[in-house]
Amino acid sequence: MTDSVDTPALLAWVREFARLVAANKQMLTELDSAIGDADHGANLDRGMTAVVAALEADAPADPAALLKKTGMTLISKVGGASGPLYGTAFLRMATSAGDASTLDPQAFAAALRAALDGVISRGKAALGDKTMVDALSPAVDALEAAVAAGKPLSSALSAAAAAAAAGRDEVTPLVARKGRASYLGERSAGHQDPGATSVTLLIEAAATAVGGA
Ligand code: ADP
Ligand code: MG
Repeated sequence: MTDSVDTPALLAWVREFARLVAANKQMLTELDSAIGDADHGANLDRGMTAVVAALEADAPADPAALLKKTGMTLISKVGGASGPLYGTAFLRMATSAGDASTLDPQAFAAALRAALDGVISRGKAALGDKTMVDALSPAVDALEAAVAAGKPLSSALSAAAAAAAAGRDEVTPLVARKGRASYLGERSAGHQDPGATSVTLLIEAAATAVGGA
């Protein structure tokens, strides 16, 4: 396979994320029932089902169009904190992609860095607040480092997925400082964060669908 990400590869990524969200809907809901309002699995599954339907109804011509449609659909279909945050992530990736027809590993890493910056600017979470940022930030760092070291995209994305999972697990013992889970104070400690968990699925989907892991 070539080491660049074209529109079909991005479509495969989004489809694989939708598949993983559907397969893990119950688990995400259980995590959110412990420290939130038990809707994260249903929220994301509704959103990603709508995204796949929208992309099938009208196939986007280039990476930016696909990423933009994904982001807009998530913003309109997913409520709560995570809908606007996931939506912003995809819209920022679209802007980062610009008019490119394929993204090389550097450009794909830059798009994910833009997604992280968007999530941070929208949600104002810092590392250790126990949010989506705690999985996405180490994933982007690992991806950039692997790409800079000249690793093929497949191994770079596998490293990113491992970093996301490690980041997700690192904040499980911590007290949440953003979102609904923060209302629980100390009682949020010891519970795995739903958003960090779904972000890990997003990066695992990239490793599978884009990297061919
Ligand atoms: P809600 O909390 O509104 O019900 P969801 O259940 O869909 O929304 O999503 C909850 C997840 O959103 C949390 O587990 C957390 O990871 C993430 N989250 C909440 N607030 C923020 C924020 N300010 N920045 C980043 N992620 C956040
Ligand atoms: Mg919730």
